Amino acid sequence: MPTQKRHNLRLCLFFIFNLAAFSFSGGISAANVVSTQVNRCVEGGKTKNMKTIAAIATPAGEGALGVIRISGENAISIADNVFFAFSGKKLCDLKGYTAAYGEIKDGDLRLDDAVALVFRAPHSFTGENTVELSVHGGSLMLRQVLRLILSKGAVLAEAGEFTKRAFLNGKTDLTKAESIMGLISAANDAQLRLSREAHNGRTGKKIAEIESSLTALNASVSVYSDYPDEDIEDLSIENFSVSLSSAKKALEEMLRDYDAGKILREGIATAIVGKPNVGKSTLMNMLSGTQRSIVTEIAGTTRDIIEESVTVGDIMLRLADTAGIHETDDTVESIGVEKAKEKILASQLILAVFDASKPLDNDDLSLLKIINPENSIIIINKTDIESSIDPALFKGFETVRTSAKNGDGYAALETAIAKISGTANLRPEAAVLMNERQRDCAKRALDGVEEALNALNLGCTVDAVGVCIDDALAALLELTGKRVTNEVTDEIFRRFCVGK
Ligand code: GDP
Repeated sequence: MPTQKRHNLRLCLFFIFNLAAFSFSGGISAANVVSTQVNRCVEGGKTKNMKTIAAIATPAGEGALGVIRISGENAISIADNVFFAFSGKKLCDLKGYTAAYGEIKDGDLRLDDAVALVFRAPHSFTGENTVELSVHGGSLMLRQVLRLILSKGAVLAEAGEFTKRAFLNGKTDLTKAESIMGLISAANDAQLRLSREAHNGRTGKKIAEIESSLTALNASVSVYSDYPDEDIEDLSIENFSVSLSSAKKALEEMLRDYDAGKILREGIATAIVGKPNVGKSTLMNMLSGTQRSIVTEIAGTTRDIIEESVTVGDIMLRLADTAGIHETDDTVESIGVEKAKEKILASQLILAVFDASKPLDNDDLSLLKIINPENSIIIINKTDIESSIDPALFKGFETVRTSAKNGDGYAALETAIAKISGTANLRPEAAVLMNERQRDCAKRALDGVEEALNALNLGCTVDAVGVCIDDALAALLELTGKRVTNEVTDEIFRRFCVGK
């Protein structure tokens, strides 16, 4: 093929690959990374001049298999220096997505059997040439093989460097990249679901929709500003206001969903409060399904201090301060209303427990005065015995009846917790922001949109409106990483683990 023609083809591929990269939702797609290993390479990748990196990709400890990942221009040739296929074929002669079975050798010393998986740029997670070597999963074994690979010219990957390269090569936007940590660290189904949805591109797609409507609006505003006297269809202050209002609504929804999503991801700081002997320890045992705290007939004899978290439905209750449950002093008043208030203030969710078998006394009433219906659930416990409590006293509060001793009322409590923490309102189709950085960007975008609306309402020039829309757009571009500083990207990926 003549050089010029090949050059044009490469340029063409470069644009097609970049386009594809924007609509791609993870895994293997296009990028623009040069490779000296094959002629099928695409020039111009952002990581083109970066060193080839390697790291152990599987967790520390013993396992049937351990994986070492090598990525970069020289990944395949470096792997060819340590891996020898039983077929006699070199990895550099293999196509992408091909596996070879062989052995890892340091000179004449055979370290292990191995399977090598070859990915050709740009069709890999990072967009670079990549080899994954699977060996037996012992820590020492993996370290020896990694050391050998590093001695052949690779450098040890920094935390998050594989994902950072995927981002730099246009394989993923920041919302997807950041969701990877959530996928890895998810501790319950809800956390996994939210991370999976962000990783599948839902958050990025929603942001892109808002971004493109604001971009179109900005263009309209410019035209309106340049030709104020023309009567152009759709270009009116009213229409601008409608578009801004709908962007405002979408951003507000995302910010609202963030709070519920955060509770699903991180749990909720919870206090179980109530006077001694109402059944707080028994309730904790019911929630956690264990008998870790000492439950006794004699009020106030529970001594051990437990710190634990329990998952109720989708929500992890972080019972950070359970010491109060076991106060040896008998009453809310004697431990001090101030102290109880402190505990209540430090928590996002209060489970206030009352004994159904006894009328409310002064201690119960003191507690009722310092809790707030917005974040408290009244638990009327011991419903298995005759009730002497007047439920009317709990008017305005979310109330659940339990028999912690018999394990009754769990489902009702689960529903009440989801309701009061807002997670029950999280729409199944919600695009949830994954962290404070994303939330901060969305908040700045909302501020820009609100300022633009204010400017319109105050009769400011459309130029002024355009400036506010620009601010909103800049915040959205930062959110997805389309326009982001090196410092921000470095900070994001530093939070990842090595090998990811
Ligand atoms: P705490 O001081 O509030 O932590 O109360 P405990 O959990 O130690 O319970 C005090 C006593 O009440 C124990 O004898 C429990 O067995 C009993 N208790 C707790 N929950 C129930 C319940 O739902 N029904 C009945 N009948 N007894 C309960």
